[in-house]
Amino acid sequence: MLEQFYPYNARALELDEQALRLCRPYFEKMEEIRDYNQMKMLHAFTECEVSSSHLVGTTGYGLWDSGRSKLEEVVARVMGAEDALVRSQFMSGTHTLTVALFGLLRAGDTLLAATGRPYDTLEGVIGLGEAGKGCGTLAEYGIRYDEAPLKADFTPDYELIAQKAPGAKVCHIQRSRGYTQRNAFDLETIRKVIQTARQANPDIIILVDNCYGEFTQTREPCDVGADLAVGSFIKNPGGGISPTGGYIAGRADLVELCGHRFSAPGTGREIGCTLDTLRDMFLGFYYAPGVVCEAIKTAIYAQCLLELVGVKPVPRYYEDHNDIVTCFDSGSAAALTGFCQGVQASSPVDSYAAPEPCAEPGYTDQVIMASGSFTMGSTIELSCDGPLRAPYTCYLQGGVNFTAGRAGVLMAVQKAYLEG
Ligand SMILES: *Cc1c(COP(=O)(O)O)cnc(C)c1O
Repeated sequence: MLEQFYPYNARALELDEQALRLCRPYFEKMEEIRDYNQMKMLHAFTECEVSSSHLVGTTGYGLWDSGRSKLEEVVARVMGAEDALVRSQFMSGTHTLTVALFGLLRAGDTLLAATGRPYDTLEGVIGLGEAGKGCGTLAEYGIRYDEAPLKADFTPDYELIAQKAPGAKVCHIQRSRGYTQRNAFDLETIRKVIQTARQANPDIIILVDNCYGEFTQTREPCDVGADLAVGSFIKNPGGGISPTGGYIAGRADLVELCGHRFSAPGTGREIGCTLDTLRDMFLGFYYAPGVVCEAIKTAIYAQCLLELVGVKPVPRYYEDHNDIVTCFDSGSAAALTGFCQGVQASSPVDSYAAPEPCAEPGYTDQVIMASGSFTMGSTIELSCDGPLRAPYTCYLQGGVNFTAGRAGVLMAVQKAYLEG
């Protein structure tokens, strides 16, 4: 059927059929996770008594915005948290994490990265090396940074975490892989890191960067003991519908502190108008468990196809999924570019554009990205990217519906590996 719409070659169609067969049991497992999360979501909406009046926003200062508070109540409940700050004014995941870090840390405090070097864009926020120099990094505000690198097999170094935790105020854990070729951490591993850090320092604040992790499993970081979980509404929890935003969910006192950094110290979370964003944020969040399932089915299918053409992706299609990302060494600049062009060509928006490598703010190397999405830069929609350096690792994520995701991934694999 696919070949009626796009020029797939015979080999691609053969691999497609084979992959669909191999993936079936893993799709079913993901659908069970989706069903649980969707019921948790529906139950949160009914328990919180969301009403049609909550879908209408405010202007100006946005004082007494009951829709905003209701959204925060629903998100807190679903995330297993006491409270949440959920705002359209969060411009990206990096911005949301920045607000959380500056909200919690003071001069003389230490931030401990317990799962190795944090996501690329946080290097400028923390002030690592030359990154962010002169821009008002945490380092320039007198906040120290310490790190427990992952072991060679990408597992956390528990001994080192226990040794370093007593000197730290905040312990940072990153659930998803970022731009390293490791797998995402499962919640049992996150629980173990948390227990290790807390045993060594009962006062330590555990902050989990939950970007790309939401709804991939039935539990979230606060369910396994995190104090705060942070994420972006143009990734998983926005369900492909929220046009912008982010969330910080967790302990009420800490969410409150972050609120003071979000607006102004002393003003806090009482302000922040919602304009026309509430309906989309409620709707996207409500749809998110289903959308994340579609994205993971797209990922499983992609991993299987890649395996069939001799590329070994992380994770493998039969493994557990704890984020929506697939990474693989594409092997060459041509394969990376071809893959990205295949994804772009099969996108609903901007399909005629050909992605080219370019410099990105916050990233050190040149990056190539494919994203033909309804929300600009959204990575819950099918997208892929990779830094232009050997071994040309490609990061693929998203897909709001499996049928279209499958079409895009198949074209990407064809352009990267099955032509010429
Ligand atoms: C995407 C991501 C971020 C940063 O989010 P942006 O919206 O790109 O700023 C941070 N951490 C992780 C793990 C991410 O996946």
